[in-house]
Amino acid sequence: MKDEIKIDLPDGKLFVGGQWEEGTGAEITSIFPADGSVNCVLKGASRADGERAIARAKAAQADPAWRNLKPHERARYLYRIADGIEENIERIARIQTRDTGKTLTETRALAASAAGTFRYFGAVLETSDEALTTQRGTALTMSVWEPIGLVAAITPWNSPIASDAQKVAPALAAGNAVLLKPASWSPLVSLELARIVEASGLPEGLFSVLPGAGREIGNLLVEHPDIGRVSFTGGTSTGRRLAAQAADKLMPVSLELGGKSPTIVFEDADQDLALSGILFGIFSSTGQSCIAGARLFVQRSIYDSFVARLVAATKRLKVGHPHDPATQVSCLVHPDHRVSVEGYVEEAVAAGARVLAGGKRPDDPELASGAYYLPTILADVSNTDKICREEVFGPVLVVMPFDDEDEVIAKSNDNDYALACGIWSRDFPRSLRIGRAITTGTVWINTYKQFSVSTPFGGEKDSGMAREKGRDGLRAYMVQKAVYVDLTGEPHPWAAATVAEV
Ligand code: NAD
Repeated sequence: MKDEIKIDLPDGKLFVGGQWEEGTGAEITSIFPADGSVNCVLKGASRADGERAIARAKAAQADPAWRNLKPHERARYLYRIADGIEENIERIARIQTRDTGKTLTETRALAASAAGTFRYFGAVLETSDEALTTQRGTALTMSVWEPIGLVAAITPWNSPIASDAQKVAPALAAGNAVLLKPASWSPLVSLELARIVEASGLPEGLFSVLPGAGREIGNLLVEHPDIGRVSFTGGTSTGRRLAAQAADKLMPVSLELGGKSPTIVFEDADQDLALSGILFGIFSSTGQSCIAGARLFVQRSIYDSFVARLVAATKRLKVGHPHDPATQVSCLVHPDHRVSVEGYVEEAVAAGARVLAGGKRPDDPELASGAYYLPTILADVSNTDKICREEVFGPVLVVMPFDDEDEVIAKSNDNDYALACGIWSRDFPRSLRIGRAITTGTVWINTYKQFSVSTPFGGEKDSGMAREKGRDGLRAYMVQKAVYVDLTGEPHPWAAATVAEV
């Protein structure tokens, strides 16, 4: 499908401490992966650009005009940003689709969710109480919350506007200045967010968008002494490296990392419900989702019949252009990423896996120039095989039979990742029992890939540490301070007599 939609793409400048400037770092080429055309070429942020942004952020964050705002006053900026996103949903969606190849249906939903995130954290800010702690001595004691100061948000390419909002909204609400570094494959929608933040009237310097190389600008943000917290979403190896750097400067860091989430279908499941949830869980977003349900365990008594229906349904999924409203599975984010997905499948097949669906690029000549890959199901694999252990981050599902609860709990937990799991059964007590026994950040019972900004999200083990979203999501970007106020008006007895002598 030819892209006939004219959008005004961001003009190649970066948002450096509230000012639009050309970057001086390495070149970034944004492509439309549905046909390989170039969206734009921009120069990313260098260390010098980052240092300028940090200096401006520091001054803006310390300015009483920002620092002394009451929570309800600060919240107004978040509501204005939410309004700005909502007014521009179509434009944001089209830019993000150009940058990532995601369907317009999905990018519209992501933009709407980003607006909701800003509004939610404005409301959380306005309604969060500080505490008088229980008095145990003569002083009135309080617990109050302060901004950290400067926060860096480092995000991946798979759902940029939503992951940007998930970090920027609570960090700004908390009274910080925020420096956002989007991934090099998807810089455009984050720059569009900068336009909206600028239009909200947020004081200059409090927000920067610095696309660029991870090892250059990303590293600077992690190592710089003025940055007080890094909130990172991305791959596990990058997150591990970043956590080591953060430990060195004793900086808190939150890590939202990869996954290889199990989905379990019991023989008593509502099979239509399970099939639709499993298809959505692995093949929506073309499998490029940290919480993709990538390992499917089906109880042996229904394994053959259930997998046969799953394969038939997978082959019927509409693979197509991201602008086609009928498309269910669009292209991957980049041709290089397709090479990686293909490599995983080829290696699995060489090791004995059987391809039940997909396993190749589509034959449709209309899709030949895009980074498409068919939804793929692999059987005859073992839970210990590489294809069952590592994150493919593409439309690739592995299926395995199981016999009983203990076995499926053990197999689900036998993985380095622990981000999410899905359980399909009509036996609610059993589902709950299993959900509690699996080490994971999120459990979905008879549903999958549902999200709510009011519900905490995060992973265990190699899937990360700390949580985002929810009311506590605001406090993650603040520091707690104790305040003692004397109520006696009496000199301290330890020195009272001494003081009286002088
Ligand atoms: P990535 O780790 O390659 O990059 C993530 C971000 O880190 C990018 O902005 C990148 O430029 C930056 N970066 C790279 N090296 C850096 C360094 N040395 N210092 C500082 N920053 C650096 O990940 P990706 O390929 O962009 O994204 C895919 C990964 O993200 C997948 O593993 C996926 O599971 C994960 N992810 C996790 C979640 C979650 O919430 N758990 C959500 C979405 C994606």
